[in-house]
Amino acid sequence: MGRQFFVGGNFKMNGTIKSVTDIVHHLNSAPLDPKTEVVIAPPGLFLLLVREHLKNEIEVCSQNVFDKPNGAFTGEISAEQLSDSKIGWALCGHSERRVILGEKDDFVASKTKAALDGGLGVILCCGETLEQRESNKTIEVVTTQLNAVAEKTKDWSKIVIAYEPVWAIGTGKVATTNQAQEVHAEIRKWLAETVSKEAAEATRIIYGGSVSEKNCKELAKEGDIDGFLVGGASLKPAFVDIINAKQ
Ligand code: PEP
Repeated sequence: MGRQFFVGGNFKMNGTIKSVTDIVHHLNSAPLDPKTEVVIAPPGLFLLLVREHLKNEIEVCSQNVFDKPNGAFTGEISAEQLSDSKIGWALCGHSERRVILGEKDDFVASKTKAALDGGLGVILCCGETLEQRESNKTIEVVTTQLNAVAEKTKDWSKIVIAYEPVWAIGTGKVATTNQAQEVHAEIRKWLAETVSKEAAEATRIIYGGSVSEKNCKELAKEGDIDGFLVGGASLKPAFVDIINAKQ
């Protein structure tokens, strides 16, 4: 069976009760490709609001998760709390958290494991900076980030890998279809060698970095691009066109 196309929307720290509710109503009534799995990640404050009003066909994702189940960890949120609130997914390893908040590979791996152990699906982000790409370190950087997770997690059935070149996030500079496909194919090879052949065939590898309604159809034609993680454009009505990129 083929891999189900997957589109995630990462609202980041954007939106108000009104604007997020408007997006929810828009998604509830828009014609969405039933073959695409759709997951949206609003700011933490709005997770319950979104879960309450969003149709059940669309899943809700936390932009963060901590690696402990409960306790004295001010400001953090656990997988158990998310699961209890019917939030089925967590984002781990987003470059904004790696770069701005200093999250290291090992911590991202612990968070991923905690999320999986707590019953969540994980959108696991990886990707290189421009400097790393220009010094031909893309594959080394990405596989190092993924190896940290593989050391702690054998079961990849609830992980979606998001390849997000840092230089393409929020910059309007999208990777070419060739650049994205090349890295996705390498990640699939890494899965086959490091996790299993089955995981390589079944794991969705999605692309993120300035995806828009204009470039999504070309990217979606590539054999190893199984969907998108969308930042800025997920706040706009055109997010629906990205969800429907395979139609
Ligand atoms: C993201 O935040 O994961 C992202 C890909 O952002 P953008 O689409 O705005 O580049």
